[in-house]
Amino acid sequence: MINDLLAECMLAFNIWDINSAKAIIDAAAAKKRNVILQTSAGVYNQMDAEEVRAFIKSYADKKSINVWLHLDHCKDMKILEDAIVKKWDSVMIDASDSDIEENIKKTNIVIEKAHREGILVEAEVGQIKGTEDDLTVDEYHVTDRDEIKKFLRETKVDMFAAAFGTVHGMYKGKPDLDYSLIDYVANISDVPFVVHGSSGLEDKEVRKLTKKENVKKINISTEVKLAYRKGILESIEGGLLEENGFQAIYVEKKIYEAIYYMAYNKFSIIG
Ligand SMILES: [Zn+2]
Repeated sequence: MINDLLAECMLAFNIWDINSAKAIIDAAAAKKRNVILQTSAGVYNQMDAEEVRAFIKSYADKKSINVWLHLDHCKDMKILEDAIVKKWDSVMIDASDSDIEENIKKTNIVIEKAHREGILVEAEVGQIKGTEDDLTVDEYHVTDRDEIKKFLRETKVDMFAAAFGTVHGMYKGKPDLDYSLIDYVANISDVPFVVHGSSGLEDKEVRKLTKKENVKKINISTEVKLAYRKGILESIEGGLLEENGFQAIYVEKKIYEAIYYMAYNKFSIIG
């Protein structure tokens, strides 16, 4: 099943608990799509990685779709090893803040451990601007092509991310995306390309990205969190947080619906 992971272009949503996972799996199942669920390293540490793993497997089976569980942007070898031991499907070693030699070295260490267990590895060259949980990058430039070439030649990475103009968090102004970088990666290798920072991209940009044959994973994180926030705000507006007659389940339902519709709409965009 792991080899099917990148057979088609997948949406990858960040989750932080069983409720957020369930809302997205339900939306995927309603659209008859497979999906990737992922967490940041910070979230991974906060939750019970084994229980989340078990829930996602059983719930995906029940819904008859494939759901893969991915650890995103991780710099910590201990956490990476933990996710490998706990049979998450793929992990991302993010050593993009190191120089290229060091990045290659760290990535290859993770690849060796992960591949032994049949787990895929994502890595990144050139830092993606913006804030993703506990990770913030201010400086930005499109990734150097010679570094990409060297990295792909010297690692057996399964999924590859590079900076081409997307940012983590929502966009202030119109993003300037360098699609030619994605084509460059396709020309020199058959390693799937991962798009980070897709929250807030226009629908037509997302659609254009899915049409690129080597784009196999499109990450959506900020919009999941904003959907959660929307669910809470709507609960307040609707009087669901009044002390009198307060029922947690009604608030949970609002949050679930907000995440479900956000994900459902994303699947509709990619068709
Ligand atoms: Zn990212």
